[in-house]
Amino acid sequence: MSAVQSISGKGHAANAETYDVVVVGAGFAGMYMLHRLRGLGLSVRVFEQGGDVGGTWYWNRYPGARCDVESMQYSYSFSDELQQEWDWSERYAPQPEILKYANHVADRFKLRPDIQLDTRVDRAAFDESANIWSVTTSDGKTVTAKFVVLATGCLSNAKVPEIKGLSDFKGKVYHTGHWPHEPVDFAWLRVGVIGTGSSAIQSVPVIAAQAKHLTVFQRTANFSIPARNTALTPEERDSSRSNYPEIRRIAREEMRNGIVQELPDRGALDDGANARRAKYEARWAYGGLTFMGVYNNLVLDKAANDTAADFVREKIAEIVSNPQTAKLLQPDNHPIGSKRICVDTDYYATFNRPNVTLVDIRSNPIEEITSNAVRTVGRDHEVDALVLATGFDAMTGSVAKIDICGRDGQTLNQKWAEGPKTYLGLMSAGFPNLFIITGPGSPSVLSNMIVSIEQHVDWIADCVAYMRDRGLEVMEASKEAEDKWVAHVNEVAHSTLYPQANSWYMGANIPGKPQIFMPYIGGVGAYRQICNNVAAKGYEGFAMAAAEQVQKMAVSS
Ligand code: NAP
Repeated sequence: MSAVQSISGKGHAANAETYDVVVVGAGFAGMYMLHRLRGLGLSVRVFEQGGDVGGTWYWNRYPGARCDVESMQYSYSFSDELQQEWDWSERYAPQPEILKYANHVADRFKLRPDIQLDTRVDRAAFDESANIWSVTTSDGKTVTAKFVVLATGCLSNAKVPEIKGLSDFKGKVYHTGHWPHEPVDFAWLRVGVIGTGSSAIQSVPVIAAQAKHLTVFQRTANFSIPARNTALTPEERDSSRSNYPEIRRIAREEMRNGIVQELPDRGALDDGANARRAKYEARWAYGGLTFMGVYNNLVLDKAANDTAADFVREKIAEIVSNPQTAKLLQPDNHPIGSKRICVDTDYYATFNRPNVTLVDIRSNPIEEITSNAVRTVGRDHEVDALVLATGFDAMTGSVAKIDICGRDGQTLNQKWAEGPKTYLGLMSAGFPNLFIITGPGSPSVLSNMIVSIEQHVDWIADCVAYMRDRGLEVMEASKEAEDKWVAHVNEVAHSTLYPQANSWYMGANIPGKPQIFMPYIGGVGAYRQICNNVAAKGYEGFAMAAAEQVQKMAVSS
């Protein structure tokens, strides 16, 4: 038997540098993973790059940032005390409140002693002779662990566009995904916002209200639905709280995206024009992401999709007074919902303000940024500050930043060079005992993230407990199971309209990134069932072995 460190179950590492599990990231995924693993009596170290917990909600503190999933559903369900005691103030929680909630969870469950802040994980290497991961951090230290869990977030690696001259700009440059912690005052400034995705759509109305002038540089118009945000009444909170078991069950088991909503029983073309319009009007008035749930075929059938897209385009034309601006704001190159639909407060109406200008950089691309202007073909747009709302290297970006070395010296970046390959989004063959939370190949970003995070964390914790109880040391996805899963994820995606858009779901926003539809579109309910069945069959598709069997397993996998 090799010198294998067995899963201790002792609660604390005998040696401070050796843990049962290293978790990378202290956002919602990392914090709950820590809580579950500690509950199993395991020693855990969480490394977090940021200065505090909260993950995406720690970094994305741009003006107007708030969640697009309703507060009463965008919250942990694992503790009834927690969900009963926390008071969400608004239908859609603003970023400071979500960050406060994350901090409350860290304190309430006494998570902080096991979280090392301001520490980036740079490298993780699997030692096949000892079946141990060595994890090297930005403070120059190396710790070892039996398991590594990547809770690195799907939208955490902010993408700064490669625009000529950006570094020559004399004013301040901000990225929405990496916003400063100190207040930013745009009063009396001419501000330029580059990008028109969810982050821009939320921040543009707020910046416009502060700035002397705001110029929005739009390459691709996006569909956005009004949030209809409002304060939550005590009665509304109580109604959800008293029904939480059922609300959570429905979100997990019956909904495709983990958000409780009325499920449509028909397609868009099954209704006549008047009935269809009435339904769209009702959802537009209700607001939010559930707009795409009016009919059951909006992401499947282009003709059905066109009816919803036309409706939103008409709304834009009604709201925006200048017909040329309205025309530019009407998306015309992708089906509605094939890019993440945006949810806004007064986004389109903001373009009626006299201090706001929309610049079409699809027909007049940005040529360069000078010391005081964004230069498009034939024109300098002078600005004092620039906001890059240019998105993220999504789903794989944060994982790729870590040098992860698995069996036979292969790195994860080498393995994923042509696109991410995982079994169930949870593990990648050749990388034993390395789990990914909400990784590519799982519903992840197509769902209410907290529903998907809790499902993955529970599955991983149960799996680690299963291994410990049976004296198993090493677990690895089989190549065959992984290949089948990758093919299935791809096949399901291509039965929908999603791949028709150049979206970050496809990796299309990052020059040179392989264009593969990354999340699993089969829905959180069906996916949970698949994961549960795999576990019930003794982790079918994964090889698990005790120490003495490990070498054999490595040869056969
Ligand atoms: P995004 O959706 O990727 O949007 C980035 C924008 O920047 C796009 O309009 C893109 O144009 C533009 N852009 C990128 N590079 C550019 C360049 N070199 N020159 C000009 N324009 C460029 O990013 P995001 O708005 O940060 O949103 C990302 C995701 O985060 C969302 O889809 C959502 O899932 C999540 N999010 C959620 C919330 C919420 O909960 N409410 C809020 C914010 C973000 P093209 O489209 O032409 O590439």
